[in-house]
Amino acid sequence: MHTPQPFPTINTPRQLPSVEQLLKMPSFVLAMAQHGREPTLKAIRESLAEYRQALQNSPQTPLDIAGLTAHINQRLQQQTQPRCRTLINLTGTVIHTNFGRALLPHSAIDAIVRACAMPCNLEYDLSQGKRGERDDWVNELLCTLTGAESATVVNNNAAGVFLLLNALALKKQVIVSRGELIEIGGAFRIPDIMQRAGAKLIEVGTTNRTHLTDYARAINSRTAMIMKVHTSNYAVQGFTHTVSEAELAQLAHEHQLPFVVDLGSGTLVDLEQYGLPHEPTAQQALRAGADLVCFSGDKLLGGPQAGMIVGKKSLIEIIRKNPLKRALRVGKITMSALSAVLQLYQRPETLHQTLPILRDLARSQAEIRAFATLLYPQVQNILESKHWPIRLELIEVASQIGSGALPIENLPSFALAFLPLRAKDKSVIHRLESALRQLPTPIIGRINSGRLIGDLRCLYDADAFLSSLSALAEYA
Ligand SMILES: *Cc1c(COP(=O)(O)O)cnc(C)c1O
Repeated sequence: MHTPQPFPTINTPRQLPSVEQLLKMPSFVLAMAQHGREPTLKAIRESLAEYRQALQNSPQTPLDIAGLTAHINQRLQQQTQPRCRTLINLTGTVIHTNFGRALLPHSAIDAIVRACAMPCNLEYDLSQGKRGERDDWVNELLCTLTGAESATVVNNNAAGVFLLLNALALKKQVIVSRGELIEIGGAFRIPDIMQRAGAKLIEVGTTNRTHLTDYARAINSRTAMIMKVHTSNYAVQGFTHTVSEAELAQLAHEHQLPFVVDLGSGTLVDLEQYGLPHEPTAQQALRAGADLVCFSGDKLLGGPQAGMIVGKKSLIEIIRKNPLKRALRVGKITMSALSAVLQLYQRPETLHQTLPILRDLARSQAEIRAFATLLYPQVQNILESKHWPIRLELIEVASQIGSGALPIENLPSFALAFLPLRAKDKSVIHRLESALRQLPTPIIGRINSGRLIGDLRCLYDADAFLSSLSALAEYA
């Protein structure tokens, strides 16, 4: 009788198949058709190199062809999966820069899909049949919502600050309080941006106290503007003094200078109506006398990455004519999403339902607790069935808004806390954190005093969460 040949074992590097031999195997002929020749070749070469190394290091453990082909296929799958991996954010930071900041409302996602699938009127005036202006997509809405005369949009708020400095203060001086020389994540520093924009920073006052007279004394014939920067990611507390926007506006205007406010996060509605702490709005800054206000699109506004500059028409015109505006402009993806988000602001009474960022921020602790209670036994079951020596607790935590907004304010929330079953077993928590991070849909929490904490503020879809968790490997 004919006995089927087992896969030949490989004991030495010389017994490894060649790249050409592997390429002829049906599974790699298929792989090439699916993923392309180069990625397939790359995966084959890398796996062969690893096998060669393994055989040299420990010649006693024989390997086989089946293992090798599986190894190559796995590598190929990994290398050809989409670069964008969606994940479950249980960090408790709602606007997480590393996770892409604000989630967009459905209307904005639909608008993006439409604008990308068909040609659109990005810069085309349909009533006149002529070239139009892309800022027109949001100009009117931004003016209505903020009370500004005019508005323009660039790639992000860093670009907005850079552009307005270059357009209005090139080779001139800009007065900023020493208490506001901020650095925000990703190497955005006011002094550096200022220098690169070609403006000279004139620091006034001290870290904790700056007075109106400090600004007044610094004004001279080379002054281009007075600037106020929202200290968005820290707070100076104690013996402090800052000058109000109204006072700075008045001083600037007495000297025919523009007064500019970098609001950072900035928002268009009073957050207190949703039970959130106060955050300065663009309207307030303009009403206080600011000539220009700039802010981010993907922080509290809840839209796509963008930088808004709103204010005096004459100044916005100068900014629009600057050649750098062309280099920093946004595309149709941003414009379509941003205009859809701004439209939601025309109905502020439903924003906490329509805008994901507000839905997350305004979610009550009671609701999160109810959700946590529902999840608890099911999560417990999954961990037990996989033999993880972990016990669960429901704990009160404080979520953060993130991205520099309202830096010292915390939002009461609820979390699943994963603790080691044996108190001394600290490593199991790190292993769990790593295993959850490497799931097909990663679950990201944070480790705090020996526990892994999963803040449930931003989680709504229990099924998606449980099905992701079910892919957790058995504890070994
Ligand atoms: C976040 C922030 C910026 C930068 O905005 P991006 O949109 O991230 O470029 C600038 N200034 C302040 C005060 C900020 O908080």
